Amino acid sequence: MSDILDLGVKDIRDGVAKGDFTAREVADAFNTAVAAASELNAFIVTTPDHATAAADAVDARREKGEDLGKMGGVPIGMKDLFATKGVQTTAASHILEGFTPQYESTVSQNLWDAGAGMLGKLNLDQFAMGSSNETSYFGNVSSPWKKDGTNAAMSPGGSSGGSSSAVSARIAPAATGTDTGGSIRQPAAFTGICGIKPTYGRCSRWGVVAFASSLDQAGPMARSVEDCAIMLEAMAGFDPKDSTSLEMDVPAWESGLDANLKGKKIGIPREYRMDGTDEEILKSWEQGKEWLRDAGAEIVDISLPHTKYALPAYYIVAPAEASSNLARYDGVRYGLRDLPDGAGLQDMYAATRAAGFGDEVKRRILIGTYVLSAGFYDAYYTQAQKIRTLISKDFSAAFGECDAILAPTTPTASFPLGENQDDPLAMYLNDVFAVPASLAGLPAMSVPAMLNADGLPLGLQIVGKPFDEQGVLNAGLAIQQRAGFEAKPEKWW
Ligand code: GLN
Repeated sequence: MSDILDLGVKDIRDGVAKGDFTAREVADAFNTAVAAASELNAFIVTTPDHATAAADAVDARREKGEDLGKMGGVPIGMKDLFATKGVQTTAASHILEGFTPQYESTVSQNLWDAGAGMLGKLNLDQFAMGSSNETSYFGNVSSPWKKDGTNAAMSPGGSSGGSSSAVSARIAPAATGTDTGGSIRQPAAFTGICGIKPTYGRCSRWGVVAFASSLDQAGPMARSVEDCAIMLEAMAGFDPKDSTSLEMDVPAWESGLDANLKGKKIGIPREYRMDGTDEEILKSWEQGKEWLRDAGAEIVDISLPHTKYALPAYYIVAPAEASSNLARYDGVRYGLRDLPDGAGLQDMYAATRAAGFGDEVKRRILIGTYVLSAGFYDAYYTQAQKIRTLISKDFSAAFGECDAILAPTTPTASFPLGENQDDPLAMYLNDVFAVPASLAGLPAMSVPAMLNADGLPLGLQIVGKPFDEQGVLNAGLAIQQRAGFEAKPEKWW
């Protein structure tokens, strides 16, 4: 049965529907693989019973000749940022340890309604703050990939590092991710898988632990563009419980897939040629242009003049919103409570927050509180909001000249765990190509392109017009077909 582990979403769903194997056989195979992969530390908790119960329900529906759903029989990993009823939900923070929600997030419920089951809750950077999965209270996540000739544990990217590690290690066919400033795309690029962040508002934020509410978006991480299309269709949809949810029908992205890009223009932003970008990344970008040209697209130069201000603006807006969102963790309502002897209410708040939040989370709260404080609000927060508007306008102008944009996903390949840890600025640079699309709320995807000279995956990013996930997926498919990325990490775990 071990080859079941190589199957993706589409193959599993179609195989179960045809009767090639049962959903239960699939769930059993993945549950076993998850249990044997604890060295990756991809999961915070495993939920084999959830996966088998969902599988049994799908098998029973098949017996009765009923519809099996868009994700019928597919067991997935759930980033531990989504509230799951009766299953501990921590955002990888000590402050939420032991918190068991009474309700299910809309996105996870949509997936269960579509016939998926849950293998477990995936590790992540604490409150989704990080780019390497080293800020989790529950320990670092290792990538299944190693740099050729070395044995150092490599970063799976972040914040959706449990998701990227599990999917690339083939212990889950797919996983949910969330992306505030790159957290789906950067880990996908680091581990040789696909991930798409849809247009802001496509996937409900209800029941997703909030980081920066004006940026947070959920999306799928899987090993093919087709699998991402299928899973995104299951996850997305209008939700009256999220006031920023898009009141739009979910397009049939899977059946709309078409890798013929004749008549399409793909823009190459000249400002993305930045110092510090790896030579091999630039080469993969050139190769990406060739692939898209081969698929029929015309390649045009475009300008996104405010690109260099995107990262500084993000590191004001995101911490500002985080400092407000994280005010609710006070020791009263959720998880951890630290009540020193004889202490009053204020002492309890302070002790709980001091003990419960990790260093990176504290850093963001401090930055956020500072940029929102009376004397500095205009100098930082208002300024950053203005830059955000200019960045959105850059994209609107560029989309007058092209249908989608091609760029690298990251400036470098994955790095060893520990390497960037004492330099937050170096860490923040990981997201330099990812953050602009987040600030503008645009759909954006990373697709694996090739391995670098060290045997590590590199990803290419496609950014689309608002609501044009189909255009993004189609360009991604054109790249996938030409890249023929079949590389698999060698099993060591
Ligand atoms: N790495 C970025 C940060 O640390 C983005 C995180 C994310 O998208 N959740 O904020």
